[in-house]
Amino acid sequence: MGNHFQISLLPTLFVFENFEAWFPGSAWTDAGSSAEISEEAGGLLVTVKMVEKTGHRKWTKFCPQCGKTTDELIDSVCKECFRAGIKLIDPERMMVTLSVCKHCGSYFKGREETSIEDAAVDSVTKELKRRYGAEIEVEALECDLSADSATVALDVRAKLKGVAIEQSGEIEVNFKSGICERCNRIASGYYAAIVQIRAEDRYPTDEEIANAEKIAYSALEDQEFISKELELKEGLDIYVSSMECGRRISRWIVAKLGGTVSESSKLYGRKDGRNTYRVTFSVRLPGFKQGAVLRIGNRLISVQRVLKGKGIECVDVNTNERVLLRKEETKKVRLETTRLTQ
Ligand SMILES: [Zn+2]
Ligand SMILES: [Zn+2]
Repeated sequence: MGNHFQISLLPTLFVFENFEAWFPGSAWTDAGSSAEISEEAGGLLVTVKMVEKTGHRKWTKFCPQCGKTTDELIDSVCKECFRAGIKLIDPERMMVTLSVCKHCGSYFKGREETSIEDAAVDSVTKELKRRYGAEIEVEALECDLSADSATVALDVRAKLKGVAIEQSGEIEVNFKSGICERCNRIASGYYAAIVQIRAEDRYPTDEEIANAEKIAYSALEDQEFISKELELKEGLDIYVSSMECGRRISRWIVAKLGGTVSESSKLYGRKDGRNTYRVTFSVRLPGFKQGAVLRIGNRLISVQRVLKGKGIECVDVNTNERVLLRKEETKKVRLETTRLTQ
């Protein structure tokens, strides 16, 4: 057919250049006076320059990986090939180890309590930020728990070099046994505050102590704990994990049982260059007031007089017999009328 091909092969990266000359009146050209020449080149990092039949020049690019024509190349490949080359969830390199407290069963990492899902999300987010330093959004979809590990299904959305990529997959969370910060502190008897429960001119009754104890436990939040309770003849000392928790407990007790609370703090030591204090919350339940009716055993007695620091003078409601209760005997009393104690 009279075609002439000249091909030069040179050892290098994949790159090509192709020139074609079409004479007027041949199969792909109109009749005319001059030959049409087209030039094409491609390969790694090469931009193709095409001469169209009309004579307009147009620049296009194509992906060396899949051959597709594209407007933009990201890391020298098309968007799709770039996306396909990114592995956002990499189970081999994204293994998570999480501690499980052998006392309370809580999951923790370092000193922080966490959940399996949060630990997986955190770890993958950190690894991807380290790798790509980009906008990353990781979401845990499902968690499949077994004895010493869990499988967490994740969905990851990222924007890398302007390309939005969404992928999902699973990673493994392995458990190791340990003791959490809270259990560790409880075991070592740690406390930051003491709530002292006393009563005005009497001893708190057994019933009040039981109630105060119940209130104290119900006032505890997440990480807070009571490390020790000390029963004394004059009342109860509750050792608690934080000042906030001590304050809350004492306020709740006063709100329920009446009385007042005062705070005092004592320098305890230094930690991380700062003074640390231990705070004492002194709860003072109200004294018995004249006219209050009390039950002791199966007797009903009415308070006649409060003997400062000594006890109370009462009278048996049924027999009119005089009854003297020493301060320490007031523990056994049950209050029949609360109205008159304030
Ligand atoms: Zn491609
Ligand atoms: Zn624990």
